[in-house]
Amino acid sequence: MNALERLIQGNREFANPAGDVLRNRRIELAENGQHPFATIVCCSDSRVPPELIFGCGLGDLFVIRVAGNVIGEDELASISYATHHLHTELTLILGHTHCGAVGAALEGCEEKELAPLMDKIHCAICDEHDAKEASKKNAIAGAKLVRERLGLSEFECMAALYDIESGQVEIL
Ligand SMILES: [Zn+2]
Repeated sequence: MNALERLIQGNREFANPAGDVLRNRRIELAENGQHPFATIVCCSDSRVPPELIFGCGLGDLFVIRVAGNVIGEDELASISYATHHLHTELTLILGHTHCGAVGAALEGCEEKELAPLMDKIHCAICDEHDAKEASKKNAIAGAKLVRERLGLSEFECMAALYDIESGQVEIL
């Protein structure tokens, strides 16, 4: 099976599995709209799926995923929408260990196409050389920026680090 076939088959099983326990939830969400309780900004890394990490299901999390969990204008607009229109209680900027984007920034990546990500990560991590500490600093800087730009408190927007090996999330 190629990639497209895998996605299509996976979706077929999701939409029509035998004894579909999610069916009622999908219908409820479609009829009543979504009321996610938290906004999660996390990396696009395939090892960092927020619904699995936090044991959540359909309609629980408003998720913004971008390589390196950087905060740009689009991400700010999405967070603002979730906070002010969907009324999520908390915005969590979730960095992770072994982050390829943070690693690329540490290695001085100069690919032109990656510059928008690298610039933001460089600003966040300054002269940090340790990969894990850099991921922490990147998440903390993101949370600080979100709080400043959207007028959120330290209780409304926090940073965290997900350990891709242990599966544990540390609030920073
Ligand atoms: Zn990453």
